[in-house]
Amino acid sequence: MTLRFDAIVIGAGPAGSSAAILLARAGWSVALLEAHPFPRRKVCGECVAASNLPLLEALGIGEALRRRAGPELRRVALWCADERIDAALPACGGNAHPWGCAIGREHLDLLLLEQARASGAVVLQPCRALAVRSATRDASHDVDAAHGGVEISLQAPVVIRAHGSWQPPPAEDGLWSRERRPSDLLGFKATFRNAALEGGLLPVLGFAGGYGGMVVAGDGLATLACCIRRDRLAASRRRGAADARASAGEAVEALLRQECRGVREALAEATRVGTWLAAGPIRPGIRLGGGYRGAFLIGNAAGEVHPIIGEGISMALQSAWLLCGELAGAPEALRLDVRGALRRRQIQRRYASLWRAHFCGRMRLAACFAHAAMRPRIAAPLLPLLRRAPALLGIAARVSGKTRSAVTPPASALPGFIQGSAT
Ligand SMILES: Cc1cc2nc3c(=O)[nH]c(=O)nc-3n(C[C@H](O)[C@H](O)[C@H](O)COP(=O)(O)OP(=O)(O)OC[C@H]3O[C@@H](n4cnc5c(N)ncnc54)[C@H](O)[C@@H]3O)c2cc1C
Repeated sequence: MTLRFDAIVIGAGPAGSSAAILLARAGWSVALLEAHPFPRRKVCGECVAASNLPLLEALGIGEALRRRAGPELRRVALWCADERIDAALPACGGNAHPWGCAIGREHLDLLLLEQARASGAVVLQPCRALAVRSATRDASHDVDAAHGGVEISLQAPVVIRAHGSWQPPPAEDGLWSRERRPSDLLGFKATFRNAALEGGLLPVLGFAGGYGGMVVAGDGLATLACCIRRDRLAASRRRGAADARASAGEAVEALLRQECRGVREALAEATRVGTWLAAGPIRPGIRLGGGYRGAFLIGNAAGEVHPIIGEGISMALQSAWLLCGELAGAPEALRLDVRGALRRRQIQRRYASLWRAHFCGRMRLAACFAHAAMRPRIAAPLLPLLRRAPALLGIAARVSGKTRSAVTPPASALPGFIQGSAT
């Protein structure tokens, strides 16, 4: 039997669940497929920029988010070797809540998923999409999925890929490379109790071959997340920075304690809660270009920014809003005929140009910051300048998108819910 919907959304991270909420509220029948049971921890620095708070409020999870998040993030710091420079973070003007916050992904993703269900989306979980096929005859898409060990088949005119970028996407294409490169960036994250880290401070870490960040998220727990090159991690393990039996995450922790005074001091009396999580390699870059035969891409599936600026969740949420604004305003996109297919293609083009206008700049900037942070020889000459003018850190946060959203939700409900999404 084939289950028919207006839209099938693959992946219930911030991008997928937001899209499911928005389309379900606009009256569409939506299936939201998520491979893993929730709540689940996830490699992420867990910082949500202030620019997203109005969107999360409009999605209906503002109050619950504030209850579970850590203190408002009002200061940013740079911790490199023995250096500790800090500055004020810019406020997001006009927002009821002008500063961002950090919230565990086990909370954020569950809140959004539950809101999608409450909005009328059919949530299938754990359910892994295995293949996406496009039919030229009636311009529909078929999705084969494994739901609790049973193979099911779904069909819809609109398929939205929100499956992130760290696992092979549902097969159909050769767009995924499994080649292992020394320069691959691997992601790690752990949570600590009793860390000596001021609530509301967001230190960015730079070290040879990697970068990261620390923050106090909910329940007073500190999150440490970072990316490190594969070859740098291997070299550090060979040199024995950690016990030979240590996991990769523990080896990263030993390296950070050794190389970064700020981390060493913050974790001096701290105890880790749970294990280190690992993910990746992460895949910074734009994938909007095509190859997915008519499916729409949002979040990391569309393009991944170096997480040094903590804007991945912003791009996930905002790309979902941009796309759903275009889709919900065009009911003819649901027609299973040539006209419907043409309309969807027009929406693809418009969405791609909005996406590029809003996100390409911050992606380029993040790449520059990431490469400088990973190379002490580039970073070293910049440090005296930052010491003299620490406010530059706040300016860097502003230009990397922290206070600017690609969309402004209206006070009223959906549909027709996007304002100011034009370039
Ligand atoms: C070290 C590190 C630190 C970071 N820190 C921050 C930060 O502080 N702030 C910030 O904004 N961003 C941060 N990011 C980036 C952020 O985590 C991502 O950009 C964000 O999670 C992308 O959201 P998404 O919804 O696109 O994808 P994801 O959050 O990856 O969600 C994708 C979902 O799809 C599911 N899925 C995958 N394949 C399938 C399938 N075939 N079928 C069904 N479901 C599937 C997955 O299980 C997952 O739940 C960080 C990243 C790293 C690596």
